[in-house]
Amino acid sequence: MRIILQNLTKCFPSRNKKSNEIVTAVKDLSIEIPDGKLIGLLGPSGCGKSTTLYMICGLQKPTEGKIYFGDSDVTNLEPEHRGVGLVFQNYALYPHLTVKQNILFPLQNLKGAEKLSKDEMLNRAQHAADLVQIGELMDRKPNELSGGQQQRVAIARALVKTPRVLLLDEPLSNLDARLRLQTREEIKRIQRETGVTTVFVTHDQEEAMSISDMIVVMKNGVVQQVGEPQKVYDDPDNLFVAQFLGTPPINTFDGVVTGGKLYIGNDCIADVPGVEDQPVAVGIRPEGFIPADDGGLSGRLINVEVMGRDCSVVFANEKSRKPSVRAIIDSDLKIATGGDNAIRFNIKRNKVFIFNNETGERIRF
Ligand code: ATP
Repeated sequence: MRIILQNLTKCFPSRNKKSNEIVTAVKDLSIEIPDGKLIGLLGPSGCGKSTTLYMICGLQKPTEGKIYFGDSDVTNLEPEHRGVGLVFQNYALYPHLTVKQNILFPLQNLKGAEKLSKDEMLNRAQHAADLVQIGELMDRKPNELSGGQQQRVAIARALVKTPRVLLLDEPLSNLDARLRLQTREEIKRIQRETGVTTVFVTHDQEEAMSISDMIVVMKNGVVQQVGEPQKVYDDPDNLFVAQFLGTPPINTFDGVVTGGKLYIGNDCIADVPGVEDQPVAVGIRPEGFIPADDGGLSGRLINVEVMGRDCSVVFANEKSRKPSVRAIIDSDLKIATGGDNAIRFNIKRNKVFIFNNETGERIRF
């Protein structure tokens, strides 16, 4: 099911009752979610991800704008008629019911033409449970399951009505690191197997990048960039997106463009033909540094952290916006330091970005 969000805005009265302020949780959001894809809605806390998800499922009505599922306008359709399955962070299972009863629950209230026989319901429940690989746990109660298993039950319960759209609100937040990894791969597998259009909300960029076909990066209710994860990482539209994606994060510096050359302090690190002379913010990805005695960028080595295949070279540069700069380099490369721990790097051209100092917009070169 293709979903179109058209100029969606959602305003709330402030939670502070004494204030007349209006909170704009989502502002003029327009995106098209292709049929059968997994979309990651990504951004820091409070950026409007959950509000967007709740508007798609109908729990929140937009203040302005339209929502289409395929060609039909569902903006004013009640949630139960939208054909959406919703999974929350806290699983929200019924503790007194078994796994089977939890999964059956959404089928038991179907009315009229949608009503199913008992056998059909049991078949559907078993099929959904098998899909998320908890078929053998049907008689257990939620408190007899691990967090990861409980979340699978919640996903099976959302899938049992064969929804047109699956919506997941921070579904991995309550799981420990190992289970998060395993469950996110599971979600990708289930999504591929069912082909159901899925929207996945998370503040964890690595999680979103690893499983999404497309990510939507949001800030203060406004979409910053939409695209395939690797494309957005490689070609960010602004400083916020560049900083939000990537671990370790991008290194940022105060820089200057003069005469078509980019300087960090006195160091010329790239040719930027055609870019007007101006102060800029410079972003360099950690994997963009190549140690070289005659390298363009200078620094003072603080520490080398060996991490097996790679090592992390931590150094100081007085134009860095953070106390230290982090470069990830191949652990086979030798790092030579001069007097006073002086160190130099060449910079890979496709790993350096410049941004307007005031607006943070990318300046392409
Ligand atoms: P989180 O990751 O913390 O859940 P989020 O990106 O999902 O954040 P939302 O929950 O969509 O963000 O909230 C966006 C903004 O709208 C926040 O400033 C929030 O305080 C505000 N907001 C959300 N729901 C309401 C509400 N019912 N009443 C008033 N303000 C609200």
